[in-house]
Amino acid sequence: MGTFYYGVESFKKVYGPKGEPKECPFCHKVYQETYVKFNKWGHLDFIPLIPLGADLYHFCPVCFTGDKLVKDEKKAAKKLVKDKTAPTTNLVPRGVHHKAEKTWDLFLDDKNSGETFTIQSAMKKGEYKKLKKDRFYKKIQEVEQ
Ligand SMILES: [Zn+2]
Repeated sequence: MGTFYYGVESFKKVYGPKGEPKECPFCHKVYQETYVKFNKWGHLDFIPLIPLGADLYHFCPVCFTGDKLVKDEKKAAKKLVKDKTAPTTNLVPRGVHHKAEKTWDLFLDDKNSGETFTIQSAMKKGEYKKLKKDRFYKKIQEVEQ
C-alpha cells in the first residue's frame, strides 16, 4: 500500500493590462490594471482532479498593490479578461545588475511616455528574484552595469 496525498493546488494565469486606465489609490499612477486568476484544484497525489473555482485579483502594474475581487467586480473582471482589445498601457520591466556591487535594480519603462519608474534598487539577487516572481514577470530584459 502506498501513501496518497490529498491537497489543494492553484494554477495562476496573468492577464493584462486590461480595461480602462485607473488611478491607483497608492502610487497615483494611471494605467490599465493587471489581472491574475488563480484556479484552485483538489488533487490526489498531485494529479489535479476536482476544480474548486477561481480567485481573481487585480493589481496596479506600477506599485503592484492589489486586491481580491468579489461578487460583481469578479463578474465584470471575468468579462474584461476575455476582452481582446489591444492594451494602451505599455510598461516594460527591466533589470539592472551592478556586477561590482553584486546588487540588482528593477525598473519599469513606460514605452508610451518615455518615463522610467524605479521599483526597487540595490537588492541582493534573492530579493530581486523574489520581487520578479511576486510581480509574475517571466523573462525580462536584464543588463549589466
Ligand atoms: Zn500603484
